[in-house]
Amino acid sequence: MATKNAEYRQLIGGEWVSGGDGTYDIINPANEKVVAQAPEASAGDVAAAAAAAAEAFPAWSRTTPQERAELLAAAGRELAKRTPDLIPLVISETGATSSVGSLMQIPVAISRFERYARGAMEDLSRPLPPQPIGSTPLAAGALMGGLARKVPVGVVACIAPYNFPTTSMVGKIAPALAVGCTVVMKPAPQDPLCVIELAKILEDVGFPKGVVNIVTGGQASVGANLVSDPNVDMVSFTGSSAVGSMIVAAGAPTMKRQLHELGGKGACIVAEDADIDKAVAGIASVWAFHSGQICTAPTRVIVHRSRYDELVTRLAGAARALKVGDPLDASTQVGPVISALQKSRILGHIENGVAEGAELVVDGRDTGMDSGFYVGPTLLAGCNNTMSPVREEIFGPVVVVVPFDTEEEGIAIANDSDYGLFSYVFSQDTPRAFEIAKQIRSGRVGINSVQTHHETPFGGFKLSGIGRDGGSWGLDAYTEWQSIIWPS
Ligand code: NAD
Repeated sequence: MATKNAEYRQLIGGEWVSGGDGTYDIINPANEKVVAQAPEASAGDVAAAAAAAAEAFPAWSRTTPQERAELLAAAGRELAKRTPDLIPLVISETGATSSVGSLMQIPVAISRFERYARGAMEDLSRPLPPQPIGSTPLAAGALMGGLARKVPVGVVACIAPYNFPTTSMVGKIAPALAVGCTVVMKPAPQDPLCVIELAKILEDVGFPKGVVNIVTGGQASVGANLVSDPNVDMVSFTGSSAVGSMIVAAGAPTMKRQLHELGGKGACIVAEDADIDKAVAGIASVWAFHSGQICTAPTRVIVHRSRYDELVTRLAGAARALKVGDPLDASTQVGPVISALQKSRILGHIENGVAEGAELVVDGRDTGMDSGFYVGPTLLAGCNNTMSPVREEIFGPVVVVVPFDTEEEGIAIANDSDYGLFSYVFSQDTPRAFEIAKQIRSGRVGINSVQTHHETPFGGFKLSGIGRDGGSWGLDAYTEWQSIIWPS
């Protein structure tokens, strides 16, 4: 069983089992205290989970869309009921502020269950017009009928990053289960507790044994063993580009289907006619929204030189006005980052920027907090596109600013990046912004807003990933085409 007051276990083939390699501590990033122990999966646990998912697949893939829709809707309802217990838990394991925790960590997961309950009923098949085929040595001529149908891929290994553990995992399992796949969930080492609770909810609402499994662990070997398991047909991975590349290589020998949502370095072009209020509000989300631990954040500001001084001054004011502190304090806008390791990586990026000549306009390195992994809003201006904090993903509350002179130069700087996940254009001339957006090599481009649209395809160019999910593309991602052909 997995409840807040009991030992956390893994769900494998309908049984709650302890970690074959023991347990490890989950640390609260806000105060460095131990929240609970999570199971450390052994290689045997991982193999058993993949085998259980494979055994459950034939029956689950033959359930009706209606049955799957009802279970997914029930999961959303049950998650909503348990939200009051889960929000404090997810805040304690992620360090999310009260507002990010209560608005984004669980409610978005609920809406994803609702969306893919409806998605289970979407017919993705395509009937094709009859095709006359003449006689050949192969067979007599006929008018051939054809149907292209979408079938579930099979067993999906769902591997998630640490920032939005439940939301991210439900973004994978809800569409996968909707189309008839079975899943093995592997949450991030830092924050698996809410996802274990999610597994309990899925069991309680009646998902059959083996359809949903979970393994957890502090070691990279847990994910690595899952990715190379012969029972796994597809890997749905969200995380860093470095780990994504390893997974692509590990999946190659068994030709696993792969969906990769990887790192980002969101370019944010601020044109000379931009509404600066809107641009500042959007860019400040890098600091105020989960301490910049967001793959889609507009971290790389590319501003027309005529607006550079004004924008940097306004951003500096916005950064200094944000309150850093305990995530449980309702007035806190910037909470901790996930770990001591992540904090030291972020500080390293800031120091590299300074050493390479960037101007440290707002320095968030010392927040004055006694414990916890805090980094304050940081603004590095006067950057150019060769500097490492401009090129590398930081995944923390750090904004870099690069000036440009012509539109072509601004677009070239935006595209001169290893990443292409979510970029932004701020210009009051929206047709012009639209033309700029079309030239950016990025899976999504926002105009005059950092808001999202859940029904659009989501994914990256270049090192930001392979494949797309979001809306009905999520259903597409977990299916394969099968053609059925007959003489009419
Ligand atoms: P990470 O790559 O370190 O870890 C992600 C997951 O991979 C974890 O569950 C980890 O245990 C697992 N893992 C590690 N080594 C593995 C291996 N060899 N084989 C299989 N699994 C392995 O990422 P993180 O630090 O948790 O998250 C931050 C990264 O995630 C950032 O790069 C961020 O941009 C990215 N991210 C991307 C999106 C997106 O939608 N594109 C969303 C959120 C986060």
